[in-house]
Amino acid sequence: MFDQFVQFVRDQFGEQERFIPLHEPRFTGNEKKYVNDAIDSTFVSSVGKYVDRFENMIRAYTGASYAIATVNGTAALHIALILAGVKRDELVITQPLSFIATSNAISYTGAEPCFVDIDPATLSLSPEKLAVFLSEQTTVSEGNCYHTASGKRIAACVPMHTFGHPAEIDAIVQLCNTYHIPVIEDAAESLGSTYQGRQTGTFGLVGTYSFNGNKTITCGGGGMVVTNDETLGKLAKHLTTQAKVPHKWAFDHDYIGYNYRLPNLNAAMACAQLEQLDGFIANKRELARLYEAFFATTSYPFIREPARSQSNYWLNAILLHDRRERDEFLEYTNSRGIMTRPAWTLLTKLPMFSHCLRDDMSVAEYIEDRLVNIPSSVRTT
Ligand SMILES: *Cc1c(COP(=O)(O)O)cnc(C)c1O
Repeated sequence: MFDQFVQFVRDQFGEQERFIPLHEPRFTGNEKKYVNDAIDSTFVSSVGKYVDRFENMIRAYTGASYAIATVNGTAALHIALILAGVKRDELVITQPLSFIATSNAISYTGAEPCFVDIDPATLSLSPEKLAVFLSEQTTVSEGNCYHTASGKRIAACVPMHTFGHPAEIDAIVQLCNTYHIPVIEDAAESLGSTYQGRQTGTFGLVGTYSFNGNKTITCGGGGMVVTNDETLGKLAKHLTTQAKVPHKWAFDHDYIGYNYRLPNLNAAMACAQLEQLDGFIANKRELARLYEAFFATTSYPFIREPARSQSNYWLNAILLHDRRERDEFLEYTNSRGIMTRPAWTLLTKLPMFSHCLRDDMSVAEYIEDRLVNIPSSVRTT
């Protein structure tokens, strides 16, 4: 199968010789026009019409009432956690299978991640495991949820929509509501993916997106905070712009703020990319369909979009039979110019997070041993 796979990927991308990366950006729209316009306007930094335009476009696209552009997705997550009221020495529930940024952002607030397993169908936080964890290990008192053994407050829950596939976000939010835990959706990978017709990122109290170079659309580096809460929306804008009190000339600040505002230059590129998002997703979904048909003839499961969902199929993935075969596949494909990659090392195994509270991790461990991401860029031929 390995040799047929290599040929299949080369045929899909119309590339018989060149190295085929996992996910490369496509600049096929107004990118240069808008970036040049931003340069000509002299507004290249944190103020400018493209920042506003990009935020308005994201509001229209996702249906969120407030959208605040940030320098990257990690900064967006950091701000989201502050908005949710996360503080030093508190706990934030998240999943062990995610990019490091999710747990890093939690750490920036002084809180610690607390890991609950993933669901095999979504590869995202499992509502069933979360329900068991909350009922067995936490206590609710005066509108707050506490981890019973440590007495620490559980300040938020951060599910991540893995590889663009929507989590069972409705069930997660409902469950967290019962326990008075605000939900922050790390939708860095899932812009344009929907759960029951609604955009991922808009179910929780706050959602965040990333526009890093390897994401479905990119502006070099960039992120976005979205929320339907007016107070939080305004606070997000304030905190990302050094918490400067608006005034014609006075320089006054009323919080410890952050220099997290997206530059206009990047926003110009982002507007051009967002104009193409639906086309990119259609293209990626067609590739996923072709992969699915290919792998249906093999013994390797292809990761499909979960029930009730439409995925942007940011990164396609398959499961090998075991870790040894996974490594053989990685070696075979990468040495033949087809970039493939294992899942992230589980966050619970990294030295910074190995001491953190965790529940049963059996599904995450199973997936970590077997999953491989395969080339998923938008095809131009
Ligand atoms: C990409 C990503 C981020 C962070 O995005 P940056 O823009 O690179 O800071 C956060 N979480 C997840 C799951 C991601 O994949």
